[in-house]
Amino acid sequence: ISATDQIEPCRICVCVRKRPLNNKEINRKEIDVVSVPGKGALLVHEPKQKVDLTKYLDNQIFHFDYSFDETTTNDLVYKFTAKPLVQSIFDGCMATCFAYGQTGSGKTHTMGGDFTGRQQNSAKGIYALSAQDVFVCLNHRKYSNLDLSVYVSFFEIYNGKVYDLLNKKAKLRVLEDDRQQVQVVGLEEVYVTTPEEVIKMIQAGSACRTSGQTSVNANSSRSHAVLQIVLRRNDRATTLHGKFSLVDLAGNERGTDVSSNDRSTLVETAEINRSLLALKECIRSLGKNSDHIPFRMSTLTKVLRDSFIGEKSRTCMIAMVSPGMASCEYTMNTLRYADRVKEL
Ligand code: ADP
Ligand code: MG
Repeated sequence: ISATDQIEPCRICVCVRKRPLNNKEINRKEIDVVSVPGKGALLVHEPKQKVDLTKYLDNQIFHFDYSFDETTTNDLVYKFTAKPLVQSIFDGCMATCFAYGQTGSGKTHTMGGDFTGRQQNSAKGIYALSAQDVFVCLNHRKYSNLDLSVYVSFFEIYNGKVYDLLNKKAKLRVLEDDRQQVQVVGLEEVYVTTPEEVIKMIQAGSACRTSGQTSVNANSSRSHAVLQIVLRRNDRATTLHGKFSLVDLAGNERGTDVSSNDRSTLVETAEINRSLLALKECIRSLGKNSDHIPFRMSTLTKVLRDSFIGEKSRTCMIAMVSPGMASCEYTMNTLRYADRVKEL
């Protein structure tokens, strides 16, 4: 599919991606309880126990717009998820792409790619692939009469506060004016002319993201990272033409683990749950064409307000799941959430 081939994006697309078992899981001889039979379906073989204590696997089936199995590359996931959204912003849309899931399920792998390894194309994530296509579209004759420029911002939302990843993690205020326009005051918006510049900024910004201690994964990300690619017209007011927000969400594991009774962790978890609930409600009201968008419920939905209103909104959610039996409960939570987002 070439960069400018038109794939009509649906207003709300919900997909799921299963990662392969990792070495740790293989060494523990964990069973893979997730299978992807095709046509958007995904099966979870949930371990259960009968009253007489005999164990069995209960098959739960889910249906999404696309289900990607463990052999799927970032490239292919990109083609079916973010790529149509890149094109849509040239047509004036406000697009968002979310990576949702438990810590360790592959959100950052999918969005940011693997910057630690050698820079091969296969390791590129949706951020870099989107940046490349933005410039392909920008230079395409189809859009050349628009006279647009590309700007990038990159920030993190941690405990309801916004930090600028392109400006030494400066803490920023979110303001709403009397016309309900939301503004992140002082957010850096950098003018860019090549995808390489964008990739460099993403690498630098990613390196300073907040990580906290949780029992699931010591380096787990407890913050949402938001990369925005903004198209502005080259007029005096640099009028907004379209915007693509790519969001690597915080891990969705619940605070059900009693061992993590440290207060700051509990506050973190409560805030994450609140923002993920708000996000679900906002996407659902978009799907129902509802006039009431509950965007004020969280900082995440406040800063993304523009993306939840009007005819020009396009959203894609990629729910990531770990295949191991030990993650089954988290996997089920993730799939139920993704299911609800789509349900009208
Ligand atoms: P998250 O951001 O959701 O916490 P990561 O993206 O950091 O999870 O993934 C956890 C680990 O699993 C990383 O080492 C990553 O490289 C690996 N991983 C995730 N998804 C895949 C995949 N689809 N294929 C291969 N490795 C993956
Ligand atoms: Mg991550």
